Amino acid sequence: MKELIIGGYTIEPGSKSKIELSVAKLYTDAEVSLPIKVFRGKKDGPTLFISAAVHGDELNGIEIIRRLMNQKNFEVIRGTVIAVPMVNIYGVVNQSRYMPDRRDLNRSFPGSSQGSLAARVAHIFLTEIVSHCDYGIDLHTGAIHRSNLPQIRADLSDEKTKELALAFGVPVVLNSTLVDGSLRESAVANKTKVLLYEAGEALRFDELSIRAGLKGVTNVLNNLGMIKKTAKKKTTTPYIANSSGWLRANASGFVSQKIKLGDQIVKGDSLAEIGSPYGDIINTVKATRSGILIGMQNIPLVQEGEAMFHIAYFSEDDDTIAEHIETVQEQLLPDYDS
Ligand SMILES: [Zn+2]
Repeated sequence: MKELIIGGYTIEPGSKSKIELSVAKLYTDAEVSLPIKVFRGKKDGPTLFISAAVHGDELNGIEIIRRLMNQKNFEVIRGTVIAVPMVNIYGVVNQSRYMPDRRDLNRSFPGSSQGSLAARVAHIFLTEIVSHCDYGIDLHTGAIHRSNLPQIRADLSDEKTKELALAFGVPVVLNSTLVDGSLRESAVANKTKVLLYEAGEALRFDELSIRAGLKGVTNVLNNLGMIKKTAKKKTTTPYIANSSGWLRANASGFVSQKIKLGDQIVKGDSLAEIGSPYGDIINTVKATRSGILIGMQNIPLVQEGEAMFHIAYFSEDDDTIAEHIETVQEQLLPDYDS
């Protein structure tokens, strides 16, 4: 079996280790480190990282990793799982998407050991973690005051990435190109196949997003034969979106939303009314294409040009997909209405 060294520590087969990867101190002289847990099976197999909070205010992923590791029966039998719940540790401390130098860590890859603070953290994460990995799952949420329907984004032109994206088992899979400077771009350059999970909103725990994410990560580990197979549960049919787009505000004012995440949208539908503070309706935001609502702004105030609704476009029948999304939501949160 190949030797695995992280942060100067050798990880033995059949072991569980907790490692603290040192990064720059705070100016208060307090030490800062990235906490990492490594689960190495006795048998040889793939190495996979699960990362969260690359954007420091995106908390659902931290909770997904916490629940995964606390499962009584969680055991890696083949290969290695490296869990990094808080990649942008500074952002988590400050409840901020960004690094203390106001850079976006997910635009600072591959980084360098002599670069900015963001570049240094990116470099450490890439060399200490990603460089060992065949696969990765990067957990995100929408930005602040924006919610996402649970969805996987991945480069579906790669066969194995596509297989894992579908195995994750959320209803919507978005074929997405690589963003410059992102973790995913650098990981792919390292030949690591990466899924990006997007669900919920920044600075919130969203139960549906957490449950769907936990199930998804488990499904991927199952697909790769890394954990003991659990009893087969109902599987979800994922639908692949060919493209997606944001619908923007056509006026400034107060918003009255007409739709919720996962809803089917038909071209010409009224999605929101934008009104003045005195109550007159200034404009109606209408769908320009049919699709499914996968992301939306939650603040009921908009300025003209602001992104309001993120809509995924499919080649399949949209109402089948919307119905399916609703069923999946009911399965994950059976007592949601009580
Ligand atoms: Zn993010």
